Amino acid sequence: MDKRILLSHGAGGQLTRQLVDDIFVKYFNNEALKPLSDAAVIELPGSRLAFTTDSFVVRPLFFPGGDIGKLAVCGTVNDLAVSGARPLFLTASFIIEEGLSLSVLDKVARSLGETCRTAGVRVVAGDTKVVEKGHGDLIFINTAGIGVIPEGLDLGQHSIAPGDVVIVNGPMGNHGLAVLLERGNLGLDSGVISDCAPLNGLIEQILGKAPGVKMMRDLTRGGLATAVKEIALGAGVDIWLEEPSIPVDDQVRGALEILGLDPLYMANEGKFVIFAAPEDAPEVMRILASDPLGEKAAIIGQVAPGKGSVLLKTMLGGTKILDLLAGDPLPRIC
Ligand code: MG
Repeated sequence: MDKRILLSHGAGGQLTRQLVDDIFVKYFNNEALKPLSDAAVIELPGSRLAFTTDSFVVRPLFFPGGDIGKLAVCGTVNDLAVSGARPLFLTASFIIEEGLSLSVLDKVARSLGETCRTAGVRVVAGDTKVVEKGHGDLIFINTAGIGVIPEGLDLGQHSIAPGDVVIVNGPMGNHGLAVLLERGNLGLDSGVISDCAPLNGLIEQILGKAPGVKMMRDLTRGGLATAVKEIALGAGVDIWLEEPSIPVDDQVRGALEILGLDPLYMANEGKFVIFAAPEDAPEVMRILASDPLGEKAAIIGQVAPGKGSVLLKTMLGGTKILDLLAGDPLPRIC
């Protein structure tokens, strides 16, 4: 039977991983691509660069706390930042549907430009394509980004060791829920705002002062659980998470419970996980607490010897095994 693409192939969970492994890696594989991390690390004479790309198809285009233009900068800047790079230059490609109002395009582009200024990056190349009405959905944006990795910095799952501490910079699930509720067909209004934000300033501060940071990853599609599971598998360790320590805003928890969604699998756009040596954790927490983007940070778990399991000590005192996201609860969230 000829298998076909499902929405879940784009959810950043099990099926996305299968698609990447079975088709893309099969034909593209090389040393820089192989780690399948947030950004590729490229060695050039005299410098090490991080290079990444991301496409944005969020629906609706505007939501509380952000829009597709802001998202297109944050997603790419954050992938570079968690790779340890200082983001510098972006490209921006627009695929626009015939009939889109120019004022909508202007608003999206203005937001994209403002977010670039906040993040300290510049759009240095771009592309515009228009497709016939009905053959796209208003606007899709692709951004690619490049940044420089400071000399001597070596982040990655190879550095993670038992005893390392797991930290997140704030509450889970706000972005996914904010976009979902903005679609307006659920009859729920929680007042939740997307956490969409460029994290490079905060991350640069942390890397400057905490040499014991081993690895970071932004917690977008698939959420915290999927990211941590991928890291556990890649590093060949077990990771224990403490559910009561994982920050989730009350109104987010309440709304997700009604919808039957798990905050640990929800997309964020301004959240990242840090793996740090235990002796550096207090310094990382101090820096996070002093920044609005990290003021609700928490230590949520620890690395243990093992073979790639993620174990959640639940609120009720039980233990639950966390796997990669299965299915796609929320298509087109970013
Ligand atoms: Mg990422």
